[in-house]
Formats: sequence, C-alpha cells, structure tokens
Amino acid sequence: MAIYSLGSINIDHIYRVPHHTQPGETLAATDYTRGLGGKGANQSVAAAMAGAKVFHIGAIGRDDAWTLDLLRDYGVDTANIQQIKTATGHAIIQVDPSGENAITLYPGANRQISDAQVARVLANARPDDTLLLQNETSAQFASVRLAADMGLRVLYSPAPFELTPLQDVIPFTTLLAMNEGEAAQMISTFGGLPDCDVIITKGAQGAEWHRLNAQTLTIPAFDVHAVDTTGAGDCFAGTIAAALDAGMDREQALTRAAAAAAIQVTRHGAASAMPSRADVDEFLA
Ligand code: ATP
Repeated sequence: MAIYSLGSINIDHIYRVPHHTQPGETLAATDYTRGLGGKGANQSVAAAMAGAKVFHIGAIGRDDAWTLDLLRDYGVDTANIQQIKTATGHAIIQVDPSGENAITLYPGANRQISDAQVARVLANARPDDTLLLQNETSAQFASVRLAADMGLRVLYSPAPFELTPLQDVIPFTTLLAMNEGEAAQMISTFGGLPDCDVIITKGAQGAEWHRLNAQTLTIPAFDVHAVDTTGAGDCFAGTIAAALDAGMDREQALTRAAAAAAIQVTRHGAASAMPSRADVDEFLA
C-alpha cells in the first residue's frame, strides 16, 4: 500500500529580529536559518518516517533541488515533483524575542501543479492506497474526484482554512484532520461537521476522532515538555495516514499519532523534527 501526497513544498527563511519591522523601517536580523517547510512536505516526511511508502506530488522552482535531496533523505519518493520555471514556494518568517511570528508566504510553484500532472501519477495507484492533501497547492478538486473514483482513502487537512477548495473537496473526503480553530471555522461556516470521519486535534488537550453513528474516540496528549509545536498537526496527520495505510485500527492509529506528535513538539523544527517509527515504538514501550 502507498500514500500519494499532493502537497506544498516551501522553503522557510527564518529571521530572528529585535522586533517586527514597521512600515518604512529597515531592520537588521540577528540570525538567519533556512529550512524545508510547507504542510505537504511536513506530512510526507511524517508519513515516510512512520514507515509508509510515500509518493509526493508537487512542484518546485529550478534552483532548489536541495529540497528534493532532503525529502529523499527522509525516505520520500520525489520522482513526481516537477521542477518548473517559477519560484519555489517560500515563507519569510520573522521571529521576535518573545517567539511571536510574522510570516509572508509566497505559494509560487505549489499553485502550478496541474490536474494532468496528478492524473498521470494517480494512474499508478491502487484502491487500497491513500491520497493525502491540504490547501496549499492547486489541483485538489481533480485529485480527489479521481482518487474517490479509484476507491482510494482521501485524508484531507483543510488548512489554511479556505472555502475553495474546501467545499469541493469535502464530498470526496474519507477522513478530515484539522485543529480546533479550523473545526470552529467549519462549524460556524457550515453549521456543523461533515458526515465523513473527522479528527480534531486540540494541542496539549489531545485529539478526538468523530464518526457518524459511532462513539467518538478521544486520546489525551502525552505529557511532554514542548519546545516548538510548529508542524505538530502535520506530524499527527502524516502519522495517521501511515498507520491506516499499515492496516491499524482507529485506536492504534490515534495512539501512534499522539505519540509521534508528542515527540515532535519536544524537538525544534518542523520536517526535521518528525520522529521515526523506531522512536515512536520506543516512546510507547
Ligand atoms: P501546528 O499548527 O502547530 O502545526 P496544529 O494546530 O495543527 O499544529 P495541534 O492541535 O496544536 O495541531 O497539535 C496536534 C497534536 O500534537 C495534538 O493533538 C497532540 O497530540 C500533539 N501536541 C500538540 N501540542 C502538544 C503538547 N504541548 N504536548 C503534547 N502533545 C502535543
């Protein structure tokens, strides 16, 4: 079984600044780091580190092949990531001394993924495979229609929360995974949750899995010392995808995802903080 991950690949440029820049101000940063980010890349890495075969479907600019090398190092198949003549998606992130972020995001190549590109890749999928997707790319609607036609499990994170593609994608979704803020927006927009399975993550309060006409499963968060929660939700979603792909039931999948995310928040970084399957085995032993 395999996971096809239609997802964003971003380069995060992180600047430590004495304060957030004001209009007209030029400000020297005190530190700079560059890293791999994007919800799609984070989820692909989390699922691959959890032991799944992950085919990432995406696009980057011509000059950033290092992102592919890094994804491959984490075990993600990058053969279906196109290198095109536009800027790789990137985020300019200012972090002030209190830890508060201010982010400018340029989606770039992530929004240039065509329906045809996805269709070519999904042609190789089998009915027991999974399509994993979020809201940071193009081509979501065509992808989920195709995946649903082929009988794939569709695991969708509706983040960042946007009515399009959300309205188009939900009818084809098997499992929706979102945080409390997104769940609140969904309930206020649609008057309730959709009929598909829904996982709501609640940070240090844990997570719940809602299923129509079935008891809601809840899992508390593991008690750890969190230092950086960036990407915790992506870690959770990627690990759930891998666990279901491996044939685990809801309870086992929730437990592994909560354990993986608990390890992830004790480490700095997003993709680079995703735990391996062995890390999670050891944590749960
Ligand atoms: P982010 O936007 O920071 O990537 P998110 O808002 O999408 O994350 P959260 O609901 O904050 O996602 O967290 C996802 C899961 O990660 C939680 O359900 C929980 O299992 C785990 N987690 C998050 N914060 C903590 C914490 N402080 N301690 C233990 N586990 C945590």
